[in-house]
Amino acid sequence: KVVPLTDLQIASQATMQPIAEIAEKAGIPENAVEPYGRYKAKIDVSQLPAKSRDGKVVLVTAISPTPAGEGKSTVTVGLADALSKLGEKTMVALREPSLGPVMGIKGGATGGGYAQVLPMEEINLHFNGDIHAITTANNALSAMIDNHLHQGNVLRLDPRRITWKRVLDMNDRALRKVTIGLGGPAQGVPREDGFDITVASEIMAVFCLATSLQDLKERIARIVIGYTYDKEAVTVRDLGVQGALTLLLKEAFKPNLVQTMEGTPALIHGGPFANIAHGCNSLIATNMARQLADIVVTEAGFGSDLGAEKFMNIKARRGGFAPDVVVVVATIRALKMHGGVPKSALGDENVQAVTAGIANLAKHIDTVHAFGVKPVVALNRFITDTSDEHQVVLNWCRANDVKVALTNVWEEGGEGGIALAKEVVGLMEEPTQFTHLYDVEQSIHDKLTTIVQKVYGGEGVRLTDQALKDLQQIEKNGWETLPICMAKTQYSFSDDPKLLGRPDGFTITVREIIPKLGAGFLVCLTGDIMTMPGLPKTPAALKMDIDENGNATGLT
Ligand code: ADP
Repeated sequence: KVVPLTDLQIASQATMQPIAEIAEKAGIPENAVEPYGRYKAKIDVSQLPAKSRDGKVVLVTAISPTPAGEGKSTVTVGLADALSKLGEKTMVALREPSLGPVMGIKGGATGGGYAQVLPMEEINLHFNGDIHAITTANNALSAMIDNHLHQGNVLRLDPRRITWKRVLDMNDRALRKVTIGLGGPAQGVPREDGFDITVASEIMAVFCLATSLQDLKERIARIVIGYTYDKEAVTVRDLGVQGALTLLLKEAFKPNLVQTMEGTPALIHGGPFANIAHGCNSLIATNMARQLADIVVTEAGFGSDLGAEKFMNIKARRGGFAPDVVVVVATIRALKMHGGVPKSALGDENVQAVTAGIANLAKHIDTVHAFGVKPVVALNRFITDTSDEHQVVLNWCRANDVKVALTNVWEEGGEGGIALAKEVVGLMEEPTQFTHLYDVEQSIHDKLTTIVQKVYGGEGVRLTDQALKDLQQIEKNGWETLPICMAKTQYSFSDDPKLLGRPDGFTITVREIIPKLGAGFLVCLTGDIMTMPGLPKTPAALKMDIDENGNATGLT
């Protein structure tokens, strides 16, 4: 039996082109390219040529995933390489990997097999320092807040009502709730605090939705950090540190240029999670890619109920563009899981379970249609799949008039994505009637109900006493006309991760509503979702190593 190479082995054997050549291919002028080593560069968007095109946007999403991921990044990269092979001027726009999942469950997030972005190791580990800069900006604000309390608290901030939390780019459940400032008057004012993972922070969201440095500063200024003893909101502007925080983000805010394994230019920039944040790479990178390429292939995290919903309702609304085609990645293993098969048996053929699991795919397709966009299913082929199992999906799609392509980009790179690329190009010719599912002017309750009914297929929404209190405060401050950013499990359409397949008749419980004025949305926490994840029993980190020559192992 041949043991396939790991993603890292395949990536290390690949030949990369110097980043200047990739920039030239992308039409980026030399004076805009700031090389970070030989194969990565930051791009100064102010030096780009005037806008000459408005590239089409292909959004890659997926069915409700297994914990391992269903291959969205892999398909995104492979599809872009396939489009390049067909002669289309294509660019990838992806999110940056967070060290939380890299060390935790996933072990890497740069695609897989022969469909990867390079340099794999550097993108997965501390990529150009962007996420660290975001962490630092976030924690600088925390330090300013605690210093303000210590130095006399002119703003009369109530230490019990500070909503701004510290962050770390790691899964570290022990930091979810902490007490700080202990040890007497010289150590500051004691209060309860907590850590979120950096990718859930509002600085990350602001970073990903700002269109310029000025806009970034303006949004940071609007961030609410807590409330006074009289329950009045206090913002970053009140503290006067928006300039300093933006300065800390100055380099990070420039999009990062890298390449796919087949030399397609790729921008990797910003990376909020899609379950606890809005789940899309930076708007500035997407805009840049649309300006330079005819087709931009981009990804939004997890299933269409999370990343894609927020891509449509938050990012596309903010960016004033519409996706032209949506690729829904499905795998036989996830379909089997939705068909009732336990994790330990996902490798065994089970045509019946695949058939039963299609209900989950069907709902994701319905959701894409609800947004007025055309879906195409990418059936991401695994070597453990059987052709009878594939046939179930292909037949169902054909019978239901849904475009579908079996993709083999993991094994074959762009070549394995040609069929998908042709379907995508074909669908681009057809008109779309993109619609946001709700109007921001609707009440919060109506917006939530629309998402639950039209995207999740549930009955309605229930607000806990805490959420009702939050709602009152939001209405009192006049913040209710913002879009909603749902924080929900990725495993189910419902807020219960165990309800697989296509559940119905369920109610979503919103336990807290957090206004994010800088990002411009209201985060609604549902179920048990955590904004600081924990590590699994056997973290991916246990497999990682480095030898005396600096060669890494264990990134996947
Ligand atoms: P997602 O973006 O949906 O989370 P990824 O593209 O990151 O998923 O893929 C998750 C993991 O699965 C990666 O380690 C990747 O190498 C692996 N993978 C993806 N597609 C395939 C495939 N067709 N065969 C085998 N492994 C795959």
